[in-house]
Amino acid sequence: MNAPVSDIVRPLADVPFYQPVAEECTLFEAAWRQQLPVLIKGPTGCGKTRFVAHMAARLSLPLFTVSCHDDLTAADLVGRHLIGAGQTVWCDGPLTRAVREGGICYLDEVVEARKDTTVVLHPLTDDRRILPIERTGEELVAPPGFMLVVSYNPGYQHVLKTLKPSTRQRFVALSFDFPAPEVELPVLMSETGIDAGRARQLVVLAGQLRRLQGYDLEESVSTRLLVYAAKLMMAGLPPGLACRTAIVEPLSDDVDTVAALLAVVDTQF
Ligand code: ADP
Repeated sequence: MNAPVSDIVRPLADVPFYQPVAEECTLFEAAWRQQLPVLIKGPTGCGKTRFVAHMAARLSLPLFTVSCHDDLTAADLVGRHLIGAGQTVWCDGPLTRAVREGGICYLDEVVEARKDTTVVLHPLTDDRRILPIERTGEELVAPPGFMLVVSYNPGYQHVLKTLKPSTRQRFVALSFDFPAPEVELPVLMSETGIDAGRARQLVVLAGQLRRLQGYDLEESVSTRLLVYAAKLMMAGLPPGLACRTAIVEPLSDDVDTVAALLAVVDTQF
């Protein structure tokens, strides 16, 4: 039986700030206690990475984060032999370190990784919880603290970049989205120190931009971009310019779309 979380939680000052949206903290902790891997899906910049950092700190677990890309190999996760000072030494990858140390391995944008790379996760995500390391002949059994967390953005997916059903059915899944205004407002204030009035204007603007339809937008404004806009305002930039630089230009290269977004910004600032 693991220690109750109240015995192991860190003082709040050490924990990265995270404003809960719903039951995600309780669900994550329950999954960790039951040694279940977690899949987090949601648009970019909505707080997935911050949430994992927050939970790792709350549960006093070391966190190993990997940003996945299509060149990521199984060796990047598991480890490799390196040559140094005339001899070959084995160097654990982040997944192996998380298993040895009983921490969290967080694979961000896991759909970017090649399918043959994600296959190394399979024996860790069922009740065996083992990591076979072919090159050293070891077979590590994950300690109770170990947890595998993966995230992806369903909006970016196309046929070649989805998780295989045989992979995704090994995880319990949490669905994230941009937070409601009453959550996004305190996030902006606490991340940037911006006052409530300006923060509210940004949140209202975000709502309007997220409802815009019919433009060449792959994704809409994220909480991250709102945080950037608030930071530029805190640095003394006029709000309209801050929003253009932090929100409008990153969202689109299309002249008509930029003009439409700027028109919405003008109604707010
Ligand atoms: P993702 O991993 O989903 O792309 P991040 O976790 O990096 O996004 O979030 C981007 C930024 O948005 C964070 O650095 C943080 O400033 C802010 N943020 C978003 N949601 C929250 C939240 N619920 N609590 C605190 N900060 C948040």
